[in-house]
Amino acid sequence: MIFNIEMIMAFYRELPARVSAIRKTLGRPLTFSEKILYSHLYHKIGTGSYKRGSDYVDFAPDRVAMQDATAQMALLQFMMAGKEKTTVPASVHCDHLIMAKSGAAEDLKSAVYSNKEVYDFLSSVCNKYNIGFWKPGSGIIHQIILENYAFPGGMMIGTDSHTPNAGGLGMVAIGVGGADAVDVMTGMAWELKLPKLIGINLKGRLNGWASAKDIILKVAGMLTVNGGTGCIVEYFGEGAESLSCTGKATICNMGAEVGATCSIFGYDGSMEKYLIATGRKDVAEIAGKNREHLNSDKEIYAEPSKYYDQYIEIDLAELEPYINGPFTPDLATPISQMKAMAEKNRWPVDVEVGLIGSCTNSSYEDISRSASVAKNALDIKLSAKSEFKITPGSEQIRFIAERDGYFDLFKKIGGEVFANACGPCIGQWARNGSEKNLVNTVIHSFNRNFAKRTDGNPNTYAFVASPEIVTAIAISGKLTFNPITDTLINSDGKEVKLAEPVGFDLPLQGFGTTGNGYQEPEKNGSRNDILIAADSDRLQQLAPFGEWSGSDFTGLPLLIKVKGKCTTDHISMAGIWLKYRGHLENISNNYMIGAVNYFNDKTNLILNQLTNQYDTVPSVGKAYKTTGVGSVVVGEENFGEGSSREHAAMEPRYLDVRVVIVKSFARIHETNLKKQGVLPLTFKDKGDYNKIREDDKIDIVGLVHFAPERQISIVLNHSDGEKETILAKHSYNDTQIAWFKAGSALNLIRKANQ
Ligand code: SF4
Repeated sequence: MIFNIEMIMAFYRELPARVSAIRKTLGRPLTFSEKILYSHLYHKIGTGSYKRGSDYVDFAPDRVAMQDATAQMALLQFMMAGKEKTTVPASVHCDHLIMAKSGAAEDLKSAVYSNKEVYDFLSSVCNKYNIGFWKPGSGIIHQIILENYAFPGGMMIGTDSHTPNAGGLGMVAIGVGGADAVDVMTGMAWELKLPKLIGINLKGRLNGWASAKDIILKVAGMLTVNGGTGCIVEYFGEGAESLSCTGKATICNMGAEVGATCSIFGYDGSMEKYLIATGRKDVAEIAGKNREHLNSDKEIYAEPSKYYDQYIEIDLAELEPYINGPFTPDLATPISQMKAMAEKNRWPVDVEVGLIGSCTNSSYEDISRSASVAKNALDIKLSAKSEFKITPGSEQIRFIAERDGYFDLFKKIGGEVFANACGPCIGQWARNGSEKNLVNTVIHSFNRNFAKRTDGNPNTYAFVASPEIVTAIAISGKLTFNPITDTLINSDGKEVKLAEPVGFDLPLQGFGTTGNGYQEPEKNGSRNDILIAADSDRLQQLAPFGEWSGSDFTGLPLLIKVKGKCTTDHISMAGIWLKYRGHLENISNNYMIGAVNYFNDKTNLILNQLTNQYDTVPSVGKAYKTTGVGSVVVGEENFGEGSSREHAAMEPRYLDVRVVIVKSFARIHETNLKKQGVLPLTFKDKGDYNKIREDDKIDIVGLVHFAPERQISIVLNHSDGEKETILAKHSYNDTQIAWFKAGSALNLIRKANQ
């Protein structure tokens, strides 16, 4: 079955005329990203182009995808919008809530038991509102999107920051918060600041141990975690065409780690092969006929530096494998330099666990290349010195990897297969002994390696590498092992060397499955009830947030001044808290518990100005909430980077945080705050961050004149009686100001549907 084939065909029928209209309007050659963006404008193309990096544009994406953790809040919000069904096709994927502990079968069984009420809720909402439901065990959202829904030239949003994975099939696919999903599912315009474009020309071809993962690991090192913020990264060139479709998806997926809005490749032969192999020949045929519209114009490729805002060249023939980390995905070390780097930084080099898989790296190509390393290890009498875990990306991949004997090879070197789910990639790893917080090293092929993300232990040094390098390092047991140059001693005491990995981009025996775990929405589901138990501590109906009072904010106590990095993991921690994703009151008990207090360098210990005592952030937040005055949060650079979770914006709103003032924001988090009615501001002079004192009371002045581009005054009322006035900037446009005034974007949507 090809999902939503009518919608896809209709898109391609209109594409040539749309591209021609865009070219006429812009009056210049078009990049592939521009063809997609402009052909998905919410309003018909007008007479002028938009300015990249500054103009907000309304879009109409083709579809929405949600994972189970974020879907709960997105759907709770959608239920408040007063619609009968979603306006565009949507799907829900049960992947994030499955704990990796005792192996696939057992872990899945216990997830179905422990998350029953959440799965029942999601299933009932999907049936009621005509949404595709992928049951637990079906696989990880992005892998399923790539295998079933993505189509070249399309545009989608997903309530997960690695949604850009679908760029591997030529789609503009953007990770958003649940509030954005609600906009699109309710048929409202979805707004985005028109991204800038980074062009990356991949020259030459990969060889030896280097893989697609190493391209994005290198790019992460070049651009850093915020170098792609507000940009689409477009890959092209001979090297791009030589990569498999799933290799392209790996690169696009992990592009989230440079903060990119999304990443994309033009349509080519590898995508065609993948579409056909996954049962979508009709899509491949019609995409093939539109090939010129599914790539940049040839003038762009001839002079890329003229058309992209930033242009980079990478020679794949020269690329060596990378290992990134610890604690940040952009600390990129070529494998040949790892010994020196580890020594210099005193990183623990004994690797306790190697983990492969995740949505990023569990394609057939990844598994087969890693399995070839495992097979070679067995042939030369080696086994894994570290623990070795495998997380398949989908039921389809699990089935064919098992069928083709790869899991046997992994098991023979000491590997263990987890369920088809996120598991250790999102802190859902019940790792023995992690509560002891011992210093240790793990290496994985996932995307993210922020402190505590993998197993909750802040002393776990997590490194990121390709699956084949992870496999080799798990065999050696050492972070500093370089399979290109180093040898190992086998069980006979002989010196041996691992051979270069080999693999297949697509299964020779074809894809196949014994059942993919998909639940088609019921035909007459709109009459169904939605299942939420009255005494549930995991699900809670939402109540609308209050409207803005129409007055300035005055006398807001400082809740916390955050020091250093503050990702959405710091703001709303994952791990055990994932189970409260559908219960705003309960999950608000994790607000900012991972953030460092500037004034005492401690996490979750801040001054309560009401009592003059120190307490946890959620406790102080609740105390301030009861006063009805609200509070202020202050932070540093790229505040809110990381996963797209809107809980990081809903929790402060629930706790009555009125304003968040920082040096700079990560895009999704800033938008999420606006949608929930919290006021995100940035210091006009970043040095003013130093003026905020622990016991300040803060006024936000001039809100009655709130307007785009207009700066806002902030008065700091220090406890010694001194007052200082500083200026803040904001990025609101008129629509977003209407959200602020209404109390949230959802309040506006509901009014429109009444
Ligand atoms: S990055 Fe990790 S947590 Fe996120 S969808 Fe992929 S596997 Fe799941």
